[in-house]
Amino acid sequence: MAKTSILVAGAGGRMGRAVVAEILKTPGAALAGGFERRGGPDIGKDIGVLAGLDALGLAVEDTAEKGLVRAGALIDFTIPAATVGNARAAAEKGVAHIIGTTGFSADDEAAIAEAAKTIPIVKSGNMSVGVNVLTALVEAAAKALNDDYDIEIFEAHHRAKVDAPSGTALMLGRAAASGRGVELDDKIASGERAGDRESGDIGFSVMRGGGIVGDHRVAFAGMQEVITLSHSAIDRGLFAKGAVAAARWAMGKPPGLYSMRDVLGLG
Ligand code: NAP
Repeated sequence: MAKTSILVAGAGGRMGRAVVAEILKTPGAALAGGFERRGGPDIGKDIGVLAGLDALGLAVEDTAEKGLVRAGALIDFTIPAATVGNARAAAEKGVAHIIGTTGFSADDEAAIAEAAKTIPIVKSGNMSVGVNVLTALVEAAAKALNDDYDIEIFEAHHRAKVDAPSGTALMLGRAAASGRGVELDDKIASGERAGDRESGDIGFSVMRGGGIVGDHRVAFAGMQEVITLSHSAIDRGLFAKGAVAAARWAMGKPPGLYSMRDVLGLG
């Protein structure tokens, strides 16, 4: 079977470096190259060395376009504005786009959906098997437990994370809302959170600090018991592994917007 040739957006970032390492150790994948923002400090550096490995003789480029010509798939953990531009560029070149970036606006989401009319796009706020199984469990628990159980989603991440609540926390919130047959936007408890809690609200608590890779906890708090479902990411290689699996899965798929649940066959 032919190897999937993968281009890495943000190759010098925390996730970009983990993705490069994962591609190099995956027998069915080959590295097509990597790029960074124009003027960024890593342009021209060797991609292997940046990832903490041996030199590959492949320099970080300053544009997606050159690498897209060599690639079957693009893996992207960058920032929303870059990812939206990358989705358009990937659509022009007919390259599958795997999106791990989080923090999109409604306009960004619409632009990505537009690109998905031309190419397969796999987009997920969390690329790990465990969190995608957790979302299915949260949906089932929310369906089984009525509004007497208050839902609170707690997440903790490293000090440099820019968006809050995390894309994963929002995914879990949407799963809980779906289990209860409501829209998250109608039930989200935000702001000061002072005073009585509204029945049926879904709350979010956020912590930022140190090097935490990603912790998520969903509590269903009743008056007499609390049920808690949780996930801890120990190594960000976990997300890279999911992204590379998604890139290989997307090869030959019809255009469309897919999730990791599709990739993992979780429905
Ligand atoms: P990071 O270390 O800041 O990496 C982002 C990289 O993208 C940086 O190297 C940045 O360069 C680069 N970049 C910015 N603009 C670019 C452009 N126009 N073209 C190419 N590269 C560009 O952040 P991270 O921790 O890797 O996280 C990246 C994203 O992935 C975040 O949205 C995070 O929430 C998400 N994430 C998702 C998952 C998941 O499973 N879905 C898991 C972990 C993280 P500069 O620093 O020079 O600007």
